[in-house]
Amino acid sequence: MGAGRKVTTVIVGAGHAGLAMSRCLAERTVDHIVLERGGVANSWRTERWDSLHLLTPNWQSRLPGFAYEGDDPDGYRTMSEVVAFIDAYARAISAPVETNTRVTSLSHDGDWYRVETDRGAWDSRSVVLANGACNIAHIPRVAEGVPAGIATLTPMDYRNPGQLAEGGVLVVGASATGIQLADEIHRSGRPVILSVGEHVRAPRVYRGKDIQWWMDKAGVLDERYDEIDDIVRARKVPSMQLVGTSDRKTLDLNALRDIGVTLRGSLAGIRDGKVLFSGSLRNQCALADLKMNRLLDTIDDWARENEVAGEVDPPHRLEPTVVDDAPALGLDLASGEIKTILWATGYRPDYSWLNLPVLDRKGQIIHDGGIIAKAPGAYVLGLQFLRRRKSSLIDGAASDANDLADHLLSFLAGSSGSARGIAAGQVAWRSSILEQR
Ligand SMILES: Cc1cc2nc3c(=O)[nH]c(=O)nc-3n(C[C@H](O)[C@H](O)[C@H](O)COP(=O)(O)OP(=O)(O)OC[C@H]3O[C@@H](n4cnc5c(N)ncnc54)[C@H](O)[C@@H]3O)c2cc1C
Repeated sequence: MGAGRKVTTVIVGAGHAGLAMSRCLAERTVDHIVLERGGVANSWRTERWDSLHLLTPNWQSRLPGFAYEGDDPDGYRTMSEVVAFIDAYARAISAPVETNTRVTSLSHDGDWYRVETDRGAWDSRSVVLANGACNIAHIPRVAEGVPAGIATLTPMDYRNPGQLAEGGVLVVGASATGIQLADEIHRSGRPVILSVGEHVRAPRVYRGKDIQWWMDKAGVLDERYDEIDDIVRARKVPSMQLVGTSDRKTLDLNALRDIGVTLRGSLAGIRDGKVLFSGSLRNQCALADLKMNRLLDTIDDWARENEVAGEVDPPHRLEPTVVDDAPALGLDLASGEIKTILWATGYRPDYSWLNLPVLDRKGQIIHDGGIIAKAPGAYVLGLQFLRRRKSSLIDGAASDANDLADHLLSFLAGSSGSARGIAAGQVAWRSSILEQR
């Protein structure tokens, strides 16, 4: 193995999470580099659909040392605005980003991590995986049964309704992505059937304030991973049914039903050209209503205890989700009713380049709040409920990166031999990091 360029810490990925970590390491004078396969904010540039707006308000994208300063704190950014925001952050913190540099392999050799890229190798004492939680669209196994003649795509391929054939669309999945795309596609004149599994319902605005404002103020988003009864389950909870629009509309199943979207149960199988839906729609909706009302109860309790009642509207509840008496359990794909299936069934990270024994049998990284114990000096950022409920949001990166940067610093301070030579505080950030091993 040839010599690589030497640096204390390699950060993989220049999304907001990798940049937040860069800023935290800079504050601690840890010599580091950020390797990015595309440009800064690559995911927002290349993997999102045209009409997407953040579902978190502008004020809520707070990065270490950087916050929204415009005149529309309650608005929701377009994709180009998100890219501009993250780009501006990278410039403001002078992040040492190597763009167009794809990490192709990460392995461990003695005290050093070997980071292979398509532009040469790096050797580092520690690594931070900030490559994102949503690199690959998850498609369920049942998709193998889709007959020829039906087009399929995922939200990573989808840009706008114009790319779809005329005719009906089956959208599978009713979390934030599924409901937003069902709404847009149905409004384009293509009838939509929405297959609904477990989902999280929420009003956009509650008692006159954005639901994110309430969750932020009431501390719901700050709940820690080590205070939750079932963190494994909490890390799988789907995203909230929310959309960011200027009219601040609530986009739930009732709103979709009102415009003519057909609701069906979760997709249980596809056999002989027929889709089979589960009979759980009513239960799934009742459960989502129950959980939403529990969240609103928590918010009301907080409002009472903190005496904000004078500043907000009185408590109210949404109508229960309306479900047909007996929603159909089958759909014949040969009937011509459906031309396209859109799998809005979640995302997952891509660790195909990771040559470390740190994955469980499902291919997920084994970590404790982002600390990868099986690979000392390795950290992961940006995963769902990594350290806090808000960990996968832009707003969650600051506190997580700060915590993990502290841990990384103590790892460097405690490590031995040559590692100490480039430990925190001993090499100025962005010093001559190109020294050969
Ligand atoms: C559809 C959608 C909507 C969302 N809406 C919101 C929202 O409204 N508000 C909010 O706060 N959050 C939202 N999120 C969640 C979250 O903010 C994003 O997933 C965010 O992109 C995660 O940031 P990150 O920095 O962890 O990862 P990313 O932004 O994905 O950054 C990871 C970076 O790593 C790079 N990379 C990956 N692999 C490699 C490699 N092998 N070598 C080099 N570079 C690599 C990628 O190119 C990318 O630039 C949304 C997510 C999705 C998918």
